[in-house]
Amino acid sequence: MAPERRIFHPESPITIALDIDDTLGSMVLKDDLDNDYISWFRENDLIVDAIEKHIIHPGVIEFIRYLYENPNIKFCFFSHGVAERNHPFVSQLLKRALCDKKYKHALSEEEFKLFEEKMKDNIFSRGDCSSSIGGGYYKDLRKVTLKLGGDLRSTILMDDQRSNLSNDQKQNGLIIPYSNHLVFRNIFIKPFGFLGEAEWREPQMRAANHIFCATALLDMVLSIHSKPITQSLFELQYQEDGNSRFELYENNSLYINGLKKLQQFATSTLKFYGHDANEFFGFKKNGHALTNILSHSPFWSVSSIPTEHKKVNESDDSIVKRFCLTL
Ligand SMILES: [Mg+2]
Repeated sequence: MAPERRIFHPESPITIALDIDDTLGSMVLKDDLDNDYISWFRENDLIVDAIEKHIIHPGVIEFIRYLYENPNIKFCFFSHGVAERNHPFVSQLLKRALCDKKYKHALSEEEFKLFEEKMKDNIFSRGDCSSSIGGGYYKDLRKVTLKLGGDLRSTILMDDQRSNLSNDQKQNGLIIPYSNHLVFRNIFIKPFGFLGEAEWREPQMRAANHIFCATALLDMVLSIHSKPITQSLFELQYQEDGNSRFELYENNSLYINGLKKLQQFATSTLKFYGHDANEFFGFKKNGHALTNILSHSPFWSVSSIPTEHKKVNESDDSIVKRFCLTL
């Protein structure tokens, strides 16, 4: 049965557009289907057939439920893939997330058919992408607000490529580390112990588990009511020290927080992907985090731009926009 929907902020519901490739799932080559790392996805029912076989990334099923159950969120899909691929991918993803009988809000076949039909309007594909000079493309979120309503300031694109955002919408991006099938294959392999391997594994471990980090960031954005969504999103992702910026994905506490949040939507124990991932992200073997998270995190005190860069009469929102244009 669908969860009761209570709208807390009807004037500003949030729309989140989800990229598909290497964000929610990744295409797997036929030759790879017999590879050992694929068995993990097969055992967890995380392989879908959408023209080609695709793996669904760890945590994505629970993430979809998290979005589905949030009364203030509307979600849609925005992929440069063709509609003929995107529609079956989305349909199978939603079915796995929302029709699992062990899920407390599991939909019946009939309920799912209605929901699936409604969600067809929420799939934006290659034909909805805009061409950029030089032959590239970008995803204009105005297409989303025009079709689904909502405000551009409360619309987010979750994507593994910053370049997929138009220049005037960089502040709308929730950018996560890129992860394709090779990343999953590489970290499935046990450590070899070669020099520099730890540094080699780190970014891959974070990339494979990127949904957990995105969940924690999104959850924090939703908890801040005093600022526009785009501003919170920006401040939580970037820190400006006057010379350079850095991104906060290296903060493993985000991954731990995301895992804890998504566990609430899981039908069995949710784990990070990778056999040594729990140790990597700072979990002891008994499941407790090694460090307490939010107390030491820098992101609550991030200021958007150093004061001396501010112009008189410039609103915080326009400062964020100006800074984003330089990214
Ligand atoms: Mg992508």
